[in-house]
Amino acid sequence: MKFHPQEKLAMNLALLRVGIDDTDSKEGMCTTYVGAVAIDRLKAQGIKLEGYPKLIRLNPNWKLKTRGNCSVAFEVRISEHQVPLVKDVVLGAVNELAELHHETTNPGVVFYQGQKIPAKLKAFSKKVVRGVATIEEAETMAREIGAEVHKFKLGRGIIGALAAIGNTLEHDWTFELIAYRIPKNWGTSRKIFAASVIEMNSKTTPNTFDNLDPSTGEIRITPHTPCPILYGIRGESAEIAIKAHRLVKALEPIERVVIYKTNQGTDEHLRRARIAEARPNWSVIVDGKVCREPRVIPGGHVIFQICDETGKIDCAAYEPTRRFRDVVKKLTVGDKVRAYGGIKEKPELPLTINLEKIAVLGLAPVLKKINPLCQRCGKRMESEGRGKGYSCKRCGIRLSAKAAKIVAVPREIEPGFFEVPPRARRHLAKPLIRAKPVEREY
Ligand SMILES: [Zn+2]
Repeated sequence: MKFHPQEKLAMNLALLRVGIDDTDSKEGMCTTYVGAVAIDRLKAQGIKLEGYPKLIRLNPNWKLKTRGNCSVAFEVRISEHQVPLVKDVVLGAVNELAELHHETTNPGVVFYQGQKIPAKLKAFSKKVVRGVATIEEAETMAREIGAEVHKFKLGRGIIGALAAIGNTLEHDWTFELIAYRIPKNWGTSRKIFAASVIEMNSKTTPNTFDNLDPSTGEIRITPHTPCPILYGIRGESAEIAIKAHRLVKALEPIERVVIYKTNQGTDEHLRRARIAEARPNWSVIVDGKVCREPRVIPGGHVIFQICDETGKIDCAAYEPTRRFRDVVKKLTVGDKVRAYGGIKEKPELPLTINLEKIAVLGLAPVLKKINPLCQRCGKRMESEGRGKGYSCKRCGIRLSAKAAKIVAVPREIEPGFFEVPPRARRHLAKPLIRAKPVEREY
């Protein structure tokens, strides 16, 4: 039987929102899988979700983050007597699947029954994506809005669980279809027909993205961790993700498939800032002028410094960003840039923006002094030494140091946007392929 939403309200159905976080470890599991199992178990009980479940990526700079730092949330509309059943299923899935034996895995589950997401919960959610929130703040927020929290061990996951419920994905969002492996195959190498991924990519880009790394041809839809994911396809809509999924040939069984609506690829983590405002754990967009030449440091990382009227900050293109470093190396003092990236908390180092992308807004002229030509024979004259002028060895003509010519050196870089390759991209970072034309203007 189908009811109009108004009728559902009239029938006194409860809208129960569920958030889950911090169930994985470096050795395995993935909160998206715990969510997927809970969702499928609810479906088996005849309980369907309202809309898509959400996969919310949290602050990528925070030192206490989980591996991929993702949390999940979903909503079910049920009659009041089914509420305990839903809670049992969700808590049961976390208890059974979370890496509880791992010291750093501290799951949290939040249930919230409310027709609307309160403004302060939305603000809390933004804070968890862009900054840092404590377990105490999450508990206070839960108490204020009347949400029910379940802490496993330290229960740090309640922060992300609450943030996932509170993220309404209003301004920008993408989808990710995730196909999971059967448990027997977890930790073994993933078997997928590479050519089918290449075909899928050519048939679905730019509406799917980050399937392949264009510089290396490496397949990016399969993770490299021992987690339950076989592959994940990111796209602009659920429909395109399904189309792409049908084109990919897995060479091993797929246990289940879930489509998440997500803040991945949206730049939600970034905030505009002037240099003096930048803080550790933030991800920022700052405009500045290059004030110290790029230099390569041990490990192959490229570091340069930018400044604005408020201060100076280092920018880094780390080794895994590969060719992006070659772009950055071509910058010189005086170039105007817009830097996008995260700032890790490293008290021993100056604040550094870990570049995700860069817009070169304007190039400084690079000038070079060259020796003048001999007016009689046309040959390039030779320098007599620093400040001593020039002479033509053939004709014997001499000119003062002032005769030097100043010429502009052609630059090897042009204004425009440059980004790290998919292999080095943060989950939250918006690929240039997603940027609408108006956002590409600068
Ligand atoms: Zn001459």
